[in-house]
Amino acid sequence: MGTRAGGAAEPANDAAARVCDTGPGTAGGTTAGDTSADVAVIGGGVIGHGIAFEAIRSGRSVVLIDDAPGSGASWAAAGMLAPVSELHYQEEQLLELMLEASRLWPGFAAALDAGAAGADSPAGTGYLTTPTLAVGADAADRRALADLREVQQGCGLAVEPLTVREARTREPLLSPGISCAFDIPADHQVDPRRLITRLAGVLGAEGGVFVRRRAAGLLWQDGQVAGVRLAGGGSVRAAETVVANGLGAAALEELPAGLALPLRPVYGDILRLRVPPHLQPLLTATVRGMVRGVPVYIVPRQDGTVVIGATQREDGPSDPHAVSAGGIYQLLRDAQQLVPAVAELELLEATARARPGTPDNAPLLGRVARADGADVPGLIIATGFFRHGVLLTPAAAAVCRQLMDFTPDPRWGGFRPDRFPRIPVTSGDSPKKEAA
Ligand SMILES: Cc1cc2nc3c(=O)[nH]c(=O)nc-3n(C[C@H](O)[C@H](O)[C@H](O)COP(=O)(O)OP(=O)(O)OC[C@H]3O[C@@H](n4cnc5c(N)ncnc54)[C@H](O)[C@@H]3O)c2cc1C
Repeated sequence: MGTRAGGAAEPANDAAARVCDTGPGTAGGTTAGDTSADVAVIGGGVIGHGIAFEAIRSGRSVVLIDDAPGSGASWAAAGMLAPVSELHYQEEQLLELMLEASRLWPGFAAALDAGAAGADSPAGTGYLTTPTLAVGADAADRRALADLREVQQGCGLAVEPLTVREARTREPLLSPGISCAFDIPADHQVDPRRLITRLAGVLGAEGGVFVRRRAAGLLWQDGQVAGVRLAGGGSVRAAETVVANGLGAAALEELPAGLALPLRPVYGDILRLRVPPHLQPLLTATVRGMVRGVPVYIVPRQDGTVVIGATQREDGPSDPHAVSAGGIYQLLRDAQQLVPAVAELELLEATARARPGTPDNAPLLGRVARADGADVPGLIIATGFFRHGVLLTPAAAAVCRQLMDFTPDPRWGGFRPDRFPRIPVTSGDSPKKEAA
């Protein structure tokens, strides 16, 4: 058993990818300020990679800036594409975006997997349309899931009750002690690590440039954002800059004056385990359980592993990647109650990362208005994807492409990053700090 701290996903096609260390005097790199593209994307998680992929598909040149791509929340994510099970009360607009993402996923995955001999091949995304079963442990969990089903059905979502016998016919290793089961055919999955590797490979093959550096802030010229200032010197100039660096977005310098990006870390612990041959397949569907009111899920992968997650805590540990012992205990205890054979699995990895949360649980996605009401030219924000960033990747990419094409879809106007109260500023709309 090992506990891995996590790490960066490498582009699958490094031979084709242009990796550029834009900075003064960097051996093998380019010199300060000489990198430019139509689009600069800050942040190489699922969101930044997805936006970069969509931008390059639209014929634009793209630079993706990240010193540790794939190492943030995306490294931990289970990859459930679950608009139905993730429905929460009073999040109707978010549901619309999640359903849009769900509709986009088959085409998005097909475009990526076409050159990888399919989603199932080791080079593919791992996109699977296997269903989800929601199961409850006790009578109170049954009532809670039945109440949620009413809300889901009220939104037109398909959630069909199964008897325990029917559920166990489909998934024989489910405990006979579960109190209820519901079939959710529309909730699917992808493997986020493979997804990023695949996105990076395609980006590299299409001429995308990777800058393995941190962004320090935004470059401004004549009242518009003109690119990215890199930490330690150097810059990337671009007609459009997309801020997609998750929780790191609020720390960027030279953001538009007064813009508040109210992001907060919501930590999650998650496990990866190997299923021994005599128990394979442990499950064929994703199982989302409610155990004494606490959610737990088990996501089966095609490689004979499963993912068990995830806790949700806002405790601010000293090491943001520190795994909670209590969290791991709770996950294994609850997963084992639903699927007793979990006790026989081999623990491969325990990981913790922070989800980029927002006050209303919805993303910060769109352009930003100046005080005169016009949008700041050259700037798009795409962060705050909280629990749904993997699901929302194709939707975020499509929204950003519409913004770059100046054909925004009014349905997504409610996600504008400037919907929260502005931070008071003393001098007009100049950036927080004038770019060098
Ligand atoms: C335990 C857990 C389970 C989850 N399960 C699911 C799930 O099943 N389904 C789902 O849809 N979502 C899930 N999520 C949520 C999902 O992981 C996030 O919403 C998503 O990964 C956010 O992606 P991102 O690209 O915005 O951010 P991140 O993945 O955090 O990426 C941000 C990137 O920005 C880079 N960066 C930061 N600052 C800078 C800078 N200054 N310059 C350059 N680069 C910078 C970082 O290195 C990082 O690579 C889960 C999250 C957790 C923690």
